[in-house]
Amino acid sequence: MTRRVFRYVPFTIVQDQTAEPEYEARCVSGEESECGARSGTYSAPGPVEEWQRQHTQETGHRRYRRDFGDYAVLCPSSEPVAPPELVARVRPAGREP
Ligand SMILES: [Zn+2]
Repeated sequence: MTRRVFRYVPFTIVQDQTAEPEYEARCVSGEESECGARSGTYSAPGPVEEWQRQHTQETGHRRYRRDFGDYAVLCPSSEPVAPPELVARVRPAGREP
């Protein structure tokens, strides 16, 4: 039996800029059954937080499940230049594109 030796290839993991990240919240308040109201999916956390504040004001519900999703791409370090559409762009903090 031969042992196969895998060469370790270092990868850089970057966020796929071609797919927007997804933020969502669901109201899980309630004693016997959850409220279940959903914020809908947004590409930034702001609108989700705004929805939460509004829902809390209307209902008094104060507990939420938050979901965040994004896509990641692994670029072999032997190819230091990732396809331009996949390279995470560094943006000044707090500014939307
Ligand atoms: Zn609720």
